[in-house]
Amino acid sequence: MPELIAFLATLDADEEAAFVSALSGALPEARIRPFAGLSAAQRAEVEIAIVANPDPAEVALLPRLAWIQSLWAGVERLVRDLGARGIPIVRLVDPELARTMAEAVLAWTYYLQRDMPAYRRQQEAGLWRPLPYRPPAETAVGLLGLGALGTAAAHRLAQAGFRVAAWSRSPKPLPASLVAVEAFTGAAGLPRLLALSDIVVCLLPLTAQTRGLLGATQFGAMKAGAALMNFGRGPIVVTDDLLAALDAGHLSHAVLDVFDSEPLPPASPLWRHPGVTVLPHVTGPTNPRTAAAIVAHNVRTYRETGRIPDAVDIGRGY
Ligand code: NDP
Repeated sequence: MPELIAFLATLDADEEAAFVSALSGALPEARIRPFAGLSAAQRAEVEIAIVANPDPAEVALLPRLAWIQSLWAGVERLVRDLGARGIPIVRLVDPELARTMAEAVLAWTYYLQRDMPAYRRQQEAGLWRPLPYRPPAETAVGLLGLGALGTAAAHRLAQAGFRVAAWSRSPKPLPASLVAVEAFTGAAGLPRLLALSDIVVCLLPLTAQTRGLLGATQFGAMKAGAALMNFGRGPIVVTDDLLAALDAGHLSHAVLDVFDSEPLPPASPLWRHPGVTVLPHVTGPTNPRTAAAIVAHNVRTYRETGRIPDAVDIGRGY
């Protein structure tokens, strides 16, 4: 009998069908079955679960689970809900996701560098007023996070001629293609990166260390007139402090793709704030086809070698 792999998700029906179809196509030697369709005997067989926002109570009903493959790159919920169980959690690392995210970072960097929020406001006021042009080489973009997504974004920005700086937890050698990137690490490095950046881009995971990391002190350390993009996770930014920095005119604009609560509640002041662009968590979507190919590779490597793919460090939170 082909191996049974459980699919556990809280997605709408079309999205779930697209993932199951892509995974079944990439792993024809296995049976990918949604959890709801598994009998108790079948649940007892399952060694691998592929998940997208799973119900932790369902995961608990798979007694032989050897590892969990996430279809998302961000795993803070899995770490919170399942970390204590000690089952390795493998997150999605997909070059296509990184490419899509890097494209979004470049697109919204251009939006800010070319003063589009200001021109929008001028148009609303019927105001014809050219603003000074600031070339990419004179526009510093500071990336918070230099992992799979931050590295792809750094390449894209550097190729487009922007001055790039990046901040990560640990120092690491940069590839030759990123020698021009100014690298900062640790608590001491953050204010230095914030002070030089015209645009700060958050591509950090949500962990105990990064929750609430960007608040009044950090916004105060940013240049007057600087802008923020948060494409990592909502709770990394203290929303009230961000609104205060925008209202005071210290920050010029924020492009937000992620929020404390998603969908963003209708009453949130972020919806109507003139200094905020709200995106519905779209900057780095998982592509079912490319994700399925990566998951298939991970499953086959495990079957052939017994080696579980590199898993999230639960203590570190990412
Ligand atoms: P990685 O794990 O590859 O990279 C994380 C980076 O953050 C690393 O450079 C890491 O440092 C750094 N980091 C983590 N904690 C700290 C800290 N306390 N201080 C300084 N730096 C820190 O993750 P990815 O690049 O793949 O993804 C990043 C996040 O992007 C995801 O966790 C997810 O939340 C979010 N995301 C958002 C999407 C969207 O659509 N908006 C889509 C996909 C992901 P070091 O290199 O030293 O380990």
